[in-house]
Amino acid sequence: MSKKIAIVTGASRGIGRAIAKMLAENNYIVIANYFRSEEEATDLQNKFDNIDIFKADVSKREDVKKLVEYTLNKYKKIDILVNNAGIDQEKLFQEITDEDWNSVINTNLFSVFCTTQEVVKNMIHNKNGCIINMSSIWGLVGASCESIYSISKAGIDAMTKSLAKELGPSNIRVNSIAPGFIDTDMNKEYSKDDINNIKQDIPLQKIGQPEDIAKCVKWLVEDEYTTGQVIAIDGGWQIH
Ligand code: NAD
Repeated sequence: MSKKIAIVTGASRGIGRAIAKMLAENNYIVIANYFRSEEEATDLQNKFDNIDIFKADVSKREDVKKLVEYTLNKYKKIDILVNNAGIDQEKLFQEITDEDWNSVINTNLFSVFCTTQEVVKNMIHNKNGCIINMSSIWGLVGASCESIYSISKAGIDAMTKSLAKELGPSNIRVNSIAPGFIDTDMNKEYSKDDINNIKQDIPLQKIGQPEDIAKCVKWLVEDEYTTGQVIAIDGGWQIH
């Protein structure tokens, strides 16, 4: 059987990097998308024969088209899409500008719409596919001072559920993963004290590691009967 082909967006660091590594270690061919961190992406490629890298701003349709064209020209099919790229923003609601709205919504939500749209044509043709969208617990419960971020992630979850219904008959599974507090650069502004306070609120008393999310991705790509779910991986922090 031919090897499965996976695109992971925002894969040069953090959660995306852990997912790319986990899939590569399990014999998938990974196209690791990056935007700015060329050095980290090249380092990832150098460590694995089955990781290929491609620069694209996934908030831009023309870049996404190039990423998908590159993958299909070289590997002929796409089995797995992990829409991981995202940015965070903390601001009081009344201070949010239109530019903030456009930046977060385009990067977090339009990117998922656009990348999925470009990839799914091939998946429908093959009657096979697994799409995993990186959401957040804040999409489920809302976060104070992170309203656009929460809106973008709730939008992703609605897209997940709608597409699971629409694409199920084409044998395409669509799920969201909603991480809690994960130890990546996205949270580098938090002080040691902040993190200790957060840990005390988490039933499992620890923050998550990128590998905790990658393990769920591995499970979802191997599973054959789960679709339309939002799977929270947060140590029990925001049980809803
Ligand atoms: P991170 O900042 O380390 O990684 C985000 C990645 O996305 C980076 O590699 C960045 O370059 C990439 N990216 C951003 N904009 C892009 C664009 N336009 N095109 C291509 N790539 C782009 O953060 P992370 O924690 O690894 O976040 C990964 C995903 O997990 C995000 O969607 C984030 O919202 C989600 N998430 C993270 C946490 C957490 O606590 N770290 C919690 C919940 C959800």
